[in-house]
This record gives sequence, C-alpha cells and structure tokens, in this order.
Amino acid sequence: MDRYEIVRLVGEGSFGWVYQAIDNDSRQFVAIKHLKPDGDPWAYVPEVRALTRLEHPNIVSFKGVEYQDDDVFFIFEYMEGSLCDLIDERRSRRIPFSEAEIRSLSRQVLQGLEFMHHQRGFMHRDLKPENLLVNKGDIKISDLGTATEIDCGGQAHHHYVTTRWYRAPEMLFRAFVKNESLRPFEYDEKVDLWAMGTIIAELFLMHPLFEGDDSPDQLYRICEVIGAPSRDSRTMPKLGPENGVGLRALMPYASESAIDLIESLCSWDPSKRPSAKEALQHPFFKRGQNVDAPPGFSYCTHTRNSVVPKMRELSTMQPILGAY
Ligand code: ADP
Ligand code: MG
Repeated sequence: MDRYEIVRLVGEGSFGWVYQAIDNDSRQFVAIKHLKPDGDPWAYVPEVRALTRLEHPNIVSFKGVEYQDDDVFFIFEYMEGSLCDLIDERRSRRIPFSEAEIRSLSRQVLQGLEFMHHQRGFMHRDLKPENLLVNKGDIKISDLGTATEIDCGGQAHHHYVTTRWYRAPEMLFRAFVKNESLRPFEYDEKVDLWAMGTIIAELFLMHPLFEGDDSPDQLYRICEVIGAPSRDSRTMPKLGPENGVGLRALMPYASESAIDLIESLCSWDPSKRPSAKEALQHPFFKRGQNVDAPPGFSYCTHTRNSVVPKMRELSTMQPILGAY
C-alpha cells in the first residue's frame, strides 16, 4: 500500500470507506475501497470474481486487490462523482438535463449492461444513481458487490439486494406476499432494465420516480404512475390504483420516444421489458445519433443530502429544448 498517497475520503458506508488517492507509480488518481474486516476471508470473492470478469469502457475499471494486516483494499480508476452528485448539482443550479445528455448517459449505461448481461452472464442487481460514476461526460457502472451470475444453477436469488426505489416489482412481491409457497418469484437480469427505466425517468424529473417507504408502499407508488398489473386475486392482494396517471403527466417535456422507452423498461412483466441490446435499438437512441451531448461535470459534492429542493420548485424548471 506504500505506493498510494491518500488525498481525501470520498465515500463511507457499512462496507467501509472509499478514498481518492495518488498512485505514485503511475502518478494517476485512483479510488481505494477499504473494506471493513468482517472475519470472513471469503466474503469478497464474489465481488472480485465479478470485477475481474467485467472489463468494459462503461464499467469502472478494477486495478486489483491489496492486503495490509487484516485489511482488504480494492483499487479502482478514480471517477469524479456519481450520477447522484451530478443530478444534485444540476438541480441546485436549476439546469435540467437536455434530452441529448440523457440519451448519451443512458446509452453508455445500457452498453455496460449489454456486455454484463449478454457477454458475461452477470446481472448487477443494485443499479441506482449512486452506483453509476461519472467522469467528464463518461458514465460507468460501479459497485459490483451485489453482481451475480444470472444462471445460478437453480438456486433462488436473494430478494433484498437492490435499493428499494429502483427495485423491480418481482423483487418486491416476495416481501409483500407473506405466503412464499404461493409463487416462486424468481428474477433475472431484467431487474437491471427496470432500474434503468426508473433512472432515465429520474434524469428527466431530477427526482426519483418511485419513492416508496417500504415494499407495499413502493408497489403502491408504481401503480399510481403506471397502473396496477393484472393479477390473480387468490394469490395477490390489491397493490394500488388500477389506473395510473401515466408517465406523460409527470414528464410533459419528454419526447414520445423517451416516454415509450421508459414505459417499456418499466413493464410489470419482466419478459415485456426490452433486453439491454434491444433497448439500444430503440428509436430514442436512433433520433439523435450525431447530437449526443456528454454532460458537463464542473462541481461535485459527494453527498446526497446537500441539496434537496421541493418538487414544487422543480416543476418551474424548463428543459433545454434546443439541445435535441
Ligand atoms: P457500497 O457497496 O457501500 O455502495 P460503492 O462501491 O458504491 O460501495 O462506493 C461507495 C461510494 O464511494 C460511491 O457511491 C462513490 O461515491 C464512491 N466511490 C466508489 N468507487 C469510486 C471510484 N472508483 N471513484 C470515485 N468514487 C468512488
Ligand atoms: Mg454503492
């Protein structure tokens, strides 16, 4: 670890700490994730396995593992901040994302997902703005702590992995329907496509699309927007309003193709959601082939709670229509 010089702390959580550091060998900035020792030397194997298999321009580059005494350090390329920081920064400056910027950001994340799902057979399971890191217009998928093989040999996947606001309904149902034997709610990589739909919507809204307080409330809020799914009333209680207000009511300025893409990604039925590969073929991405605009990233706070304006204020913001 002697070759690294710590610059500052950039993230902290139950996992440990993330520092910005200088690599004295390469003279480049790196991010060092210092994992809290939890006594289980095997605990990090799945994350390292995913990190070493997932090398792609839109997945944060992993430079290796270092050990010091009982401590484990993961070394990554350094990224200026998260998409969450970028949204906060734009919201505080009252500059909405143009559709060209949203297209550029979403395309890059979908390219990372296409590689992860189709070429490596992994799913991320915790896609959210905090786990998408941004650097000078590039955006990369990060935090592979929950990434796992899509095909896990018939074993059931855990249902509490993704952060609730971005969690797909099939992951929420199990928490809601108490009698688990009624349905074997399995899930696959389509949970990442659901999260992708909510993230694209968040770029238009500058605010999370579905902000539930718990799993039933999360499902209720989804129904409020997209309407309730068809259900078998013997196995599934009523989740929320039958008819939702629709995405168009929330995003009056978004193009038809943007609304159509988000609607298809946020389909109740995972099999109706496009794959990452299919999503990249959507007209939303065809329209502006040559006018993608990487977003500027001039300032970053690294704290989510620094600026939280009310929805009322946000509704007065005008999108930059000229940019697409
Ligand atoms: P956790 O499992 O706790 O979510 P993450 O890997 O997401 O851990 O890291 C936590 C935070 O640390 C991120 O949200 C981000 O702010 C910061 N971070 C992580 N990796 C990097 C990196 N490569 N460059 C810059 N900041 C990073
Ligand atoms: Mg994270």
